[in-house]
Amino acid sequence: MTAEQLFYDKKTGFDRLTDSDKHAIQTYAEGYKRFLDEAKTERDAVREIVRMAEAKGFRAWTRDGGVKPGDRLYQVNRGKGITLAVIGTESLRHGVHLTAAHLDAPRIDIRTVPLYEDNGMAFFKTHYYGGIKKYQWTAIPLELRGVVCVCENGQVKTVPVRVGDQLDDPKFVITDLLPHLASEQMTKKATDIIKGEGMNILIGSAPSETVDEKCADKIKLAVMEHLNRAYGMTEADFLSAELCCVPAFKACDIGFDRSLVGAYGHDDRVCSYPAATALIDLQTTPAHTCVCLLVDKEEIGSDGVTGMQSRAFDTFIDDLCRAEDVLTGECLENSVCLSADVCNAFDPNFPEVSEKRNDARINCGFALVKYTGSRGKAGTNDAPAELMARIRCILDKAGVIWQTGQLGRVDQGGGGTVAMYLANRNVDTVDAGVPVLSMHSPFELIAKLDLYMAYKGFAAFYQD
Ligand code: MN
Ligand code: MN
Repeated sequence: MTAEQLFYDKKTGFDRLTDSDKHAIQTYAEGYKRFLDEAKTERDAVREIVRMAEAKGFRAWTRDGGVKPGDRLYQVNRGKGITLAVIGTESLRHGVHLTAAHLDAPRIDIRTVPLYEDNGMAFFKTHYYGGIKKYQWTAIPLELRGVVCVCENGQVKTVPVRVGDQLDDPKFVITDLLPHLASEQMTKKATDIIKGEGMNILIGSAPSETVDEKCADKIKLAVMEHLNRAYGMTEADFLSAELCCVPAFKACDIGFDRSLVGAYGHDDRVCSYPAATALIDLQTTPAHTCVCLLVDKEEIGSDGVTGMQSRAFDTFIDDLCRAEDVLTGECLENSVCLSADVCNAFDPNFPEVSEKRNDARINCGFALVKYTGSRGKAGTNDAPAELMARIRCILDKAGVIWQTGQLGRVDQGGGGTVAMYLANRNVDTVDAGVPVLSMHSPFELIAKLDLYMAYKGFAAFYQD
């Protein structure tokens, strides 16, 4: 055998693309960019995925609905997570082919008592969500998204809030210090340059014209008057709101060759979008039942009722299994899961944190990650070799361009995904996803080739 046959090397996918791939890569990325602009929060993403799924024949499923092969179902978890399923020809006893990705992304959450006025300006107090470099979120345009839940005649009413994504919408910002006065700031550690309590969002500076002798905070009053007009809310309603600021950038092509997409929130929409669309686009009824599980709260540890550690997933599988009179434990034991999350892409500007042979590279395809974790592989499921081989076979057979990935050099840091929570449920699970540059920054980067290969990879996995 030749060295080329004997050696493994990460190679660019460009020299293996078919003509139809080349065209499909660009078209698919356009749909993805539209999705990114629409779906900047998990709630937005769920709404958008429901719309896409219903357009292709999926229907909301209820527990007592009954199922038959070919059925296309979805179930929404509290507006913040969604499970899609296509019922296969085989019994659930043989397990499901599952993909699991997350819809939440790092962002700036508005606090429960957020509004105050200080020296002629009004601000929102915030609490950042997920692992961010705080200094990256100052001096960039932000938009406001979320919901305010109010009690009206004894009923909970959810009012959507969305300001800043339309062309003539106002935007918001966290200010930073001018360099002229930053000599002390610039000597600080990057973690201390901007303090968590310093991430206050500027939301106004003009006073109310209402004559109210007792009110000293006229700018705060003007903000509340606006919010009351627009959303019927009072200051107390912030307590039952979920509002956040996200970057007000639109997804765009990067590079003269348009090979990359820059956007907020690739982690993990660059995996959840292909995992969902590959299922939604299935033309034929698969042998195994296929499930795409899209969860919330991954960026803060997967806890909570909409996170991967919630029993919501188990209940859904229980319900499906009961409809077929199959034991859930038996179904899970025979299931396979691609835990679809991003990995870091090797960055030539920071070669010291990566290990060249093992870190994923952009344009080398869909990345299989045997383990994530940190400090000697802690906090990972470390996929079995047999499973890795099985997935390799599926991808190779379907002509998917793929590579291996990891999360940086040993002991450099690390991180986890939802993979271990699936694996702990006795599901054979491996991480697979798209390499990302500038991960968790307000403007992340991915390669269109890798995105499309993820879509092809998930499609092949569902159809296996
Ligand atoms: Mn992620
Ligand atoms: Mn993340």
